[in-house]
Amino acid sequence: MNIKAFTFNPFQENTYVVSNNAGDALVIDPGCSNPQEEARLHNYLIEEGLRLQCIVNTHLHIDHVLGNRFLEETFGVRSMAHQSDAFWLERLPEQAKMFGIPLLRDVPQVGIPLVEGDRIWLGKEGSPEAECFDVFEVPGHAPGHIVLYNANNACLFAGDVLFKGSIGRTDLIGGNYEQLIDGIRSKLLVLPEDTDVFCGHGPVTSIGKEKQHNPFIS
Ligand SMILES: [Zn+2]
Ligand SMILES: [Zn+2]
Repeated sequence: MNIKAFTFNPFQENTYVVSNNAGDALVIDPGCSNPQEEARLHNYLIEEGLRLQCIVNTHLHIDHVLGNRFLEETFGVRSMAHQSDAFWLERLPEQAKMFGIPLLRDVPQVGIPLVEGDRIWLGKEGSPEAECFDVFEVPGHAPGHIVLYNANNACLFAGDVLFKGSIGRTDLIGGNYEQLIDGIRSKLLVLPEDTDVFCGHGPVTSIGKEKQHNPFIS
C-alpha cells in the first residue's frame, strides 16, 4: 500500500492519497483550496495512473473538505463521512468567508454515511491487493469524527483526533474534551504500538510514541 501526503490550504491540512498495487486509490480529507493545489493532486493521480474509488472525510471541518467537489466533479466519485458532522457543510460558505478563503465550487454533500464498525475496501473486496479500513467513531474534536485503521499495514488515519505531542481542539461547536480523551484511550491507544499515525496536521507519529510522550494522554 502506498501513502502520499499533500499539505494544502491556509490551515496546513494533510491530504492523503492511499493506493494499492492494482492502482486503486482513495483520497482522505481532500483539502485543496485553489487551482494550483487542485492541479497538484490531480497530476499525482493521473501520473501514477490511479483509479480514484472514493473520498473519505475524517470529519467535515472546512480545511478537510475544500477539495471534495473538485474530486467529485473530476472523477465522478462520492464522499464518505459521518452524518453527525453534516451540519458543518451547511456552515461552509460562512466559514470560508470568515477565514477569507474563496469557495471555488458548490458546497459538497455526504455521499455515503459511515458509522462505527463500517469497513471501507480499497480495491475489490476479497482480491489479493485489496486493503481494508476499519471505521472507528472518535468524537470530541468534531461530533462526527471518524478515524480509519488498516491493520494489514499497521496504519491509522487520525484526522484531527491525535497529533504528534497534541490532540484536537475541543472548543469548536460539538466539541467535548472528556469525550475526545476517552475515545483516544479506548480506541486508539489499544492499537499496536508500532501503528503509524497519519495526522490531519503535522508529521506522522506512532501509537507507541504518543503513549510515551503525548502530555495529554501519557
Ligand atoms: Zn478539524
Ligand atoms: Zn483540521
